[in-house]
Amino acid sequence: MINLFLLYSISLLKNKYVNLLRKQILSPRITKEYIEEYRLNRFNDNNLRMFILTMILFAEQLLLGLFMAEGGTVLQHIYFASSASMLCFFITCFVFLYRTPARVNIAHELFELSFAAFGMATALCRFMVVRTEIFTIPAIYIAALYGIAVIFVFGRLQIIVIYFAITSAALILIPFFHPEIQVSNFRSDIISNGIIAMIIMLMNRKRHIHSFINNKRIETINQELREQSIRDGLTGLYNRRKLDEVFGEVCMKADRYESDFSVIMIDLDHFKLINDNYGHHIGDSVLREFSRILENNIREVDVCGRWGGEEFFVICQETDIDAAAGFASRLRESVEKMKFINDLHITASFGVASWNDYSDQDSLLKEVDSRLYKAKEAGRNKVCSVSDPTRV
Ligand code: GH3
Ligand code: MG
Ligand code: MG
Repeated sequence: MINLFLLYSISLLKNKYVNLLRKQILSPRITKEYIEEYRLNRFNDNNLRMFILTMILFAEQLLLGLFMAEGGTVLQHIYFASSASMLCFFITCFVFLYRTPARVNIAHELFELSFAAFGMATALCRFMVVRTEIFTIPAIYIAALYGIAVIFVFGRLQIIVIYFAITSAALILIPFFHPEIQVSNFRSDIISNGIIAMIIMLMNRKRHIHSFINNKRIETINQELREQSIRDGLTGLYNRRKLDEVFGEVCMKADRYESDFSVIMIDLDHFKLINDNYGHHIGDSVLREFSRILENNIREVDVCGRWGGEEFFVICQETDIDAAAGFASRLRESVEKMKFINDLHITASFGVASWNDYSDQDSLLKEVDSRLYKAKEAGRNKVCSVSDPTRV
């Protein structure tokens, strides 16, 4: 009984710690849709860090070779060789900074890992040349172990392989190059330092992924907010704010380049009756269906939106008054023929005006509004594109 209880407690604890390990160190995972983007983001981050590091190390090794080592010695050659290799890394990083790859492939990933591998190989080499009475782990080994863990971000498997490889290599190299010393004293130090550095790197990776996911979320929310701020909630068309903005821009462009454009103001006829007779939800559906007609009939360069209530506005770029009036007439006919929800038939009135006649945003707006009013006065289901009401 006690045994069972103990086994149960151990399994509970095991689950708890396994979960803790997974939560704190191994998770999170990047979802499939973002994996490519995350790899590129990680590559660019690592590349920038490598760029800065190799620039500093190139200068440092060169100066050491020039001023600290005696001319022609092996030490001077080592300094020059490592300075030259840092220069090679630096140039490659610069190329990737200047021309960011469109997507990361295996070659990029190998390059990303190569600097860490180079650093660790250099650190391991130090074991061979350490010549002391009392053996200590070389400072460069510790620096490479923790420096790489803190500065770079790699994948989970890469991290485990890197630290497993360097720890095993160190454990094999020490007795090989230093048979005179009692290796057992250093085994635990090498292993524990390897494990701690690996955990730091895994946690660093976790933070990096979290910040990527958070940035992605913020980006998506911002995009949604931007869309919402320019769209009308009911019809999905541009709202009045966006129309005002585009209208202002188009006026400025027409003014500067002395080009022409036209605007159409549309108002659905007797719309109040639809609400009164069929209810607001049917009225709403009619507004949505009308919006789709509008969207499907305008050209790609034209802009349409909901001006407010049951009024709509179209900006026809590079279009003179006759072409815009022709388009409005075709639209009027389509609406007249169309069967809306509940087999409803509706009509709309149109006011049309062009920039060339007014060359001023406010006057143009006033005119198109007054032409719409004239179309209504003339009996509705009409297009008015002239100032003279008798010609509607
Ligand atoms: P007219 O031919 O003179 O334009 O007559 P009208 O009834 O269309 O014009 P009026 O301005 O009297 O009424 C407009 C109606 O449009 C009143 C309002 O309830 C309705 N309306 C405005 N916005 C919405 C909306 O978002 N949904 C619905 N269902 N109705 C709306
Ligand atoms: Mg109205
Ligand atoms: Mg109306």
